[in-house]
Amino acid sequence: MNLILFGPPAAGKGTQAKRLVAEKGMVQLSTGDMLRAAIASGSDLGKQVEGILQRGDLVSDEIVIAMIEERLPEAEKAGGAIFDGFPRTLAQAKALDAMLEGRGAKIDLVIRLKVDDQALMDRIAGRYAETARPDDNPESFKVRLGAYNDQTAPLLPYYQDQNKLVEVDGMGSIESVAQAIDGAMTAPRP
Ligand code: AMP
Repeated sequence: MNLILFGPPAAGKGTQAKRLVAEKGMVQLSTGDMLRAAIASGSDLGKQVEGILQRGDLVSDEIVIAMIEERLPEAEKAGGAIFDGFPRTLAQAKALDAMLEGRGAKIDLVIRLKVDDQALMDRIAGRYAETARPDDNPESFKVRLGAYNDQTAPLLPYYQDQNKLVEVDGMGSIESVAQAIDGAMTAPRP
């Protein structure tokens, strides 16, 4: 199964993706993790994107699409991918569909984690204190939330029109969100 975990920054996508990897052997494809790894490695790409991540803006579609494309064979071997933080623009969503189609595959399900903005702000304050992830500072977080609302949320109708979108309340405990996600993954699809 190819699954997109969809939602604003700090909605819990990464936490739930890691759980699905541990429990179901799926592969997590997180463009944010890939970009942070590039920055940590000091590569040219890392140097190119470091300031963009720090500000909270989106990196170019070309960069993230190429990163995902490179990892698709690995996900295919594992029997499915969890796309976490990708796609974030309509161009990315269309490129993903085309790449999967070229491999005889498709997106099966898009799970939207719904969390209200104030809860996100509270979560991020806690995470910043714990991990000091540079783009969790309040200013960058505002930019990230703005990017989500302006560029990523408009993808919802794209998946809704394809009958792939399921909404899950992301405000509960990690366990209750996990249960809701598992329910959505096993429910019969049209
Ligand atoms: P994330 O860990 O998913 O919150 O991503 C952290 C940052 O990486 C984002 O704020 C963007 O700067 C960048 N990023 C991650 N995924 C994408 C994407 N699909 N498109 C553009 N930028 C991305």
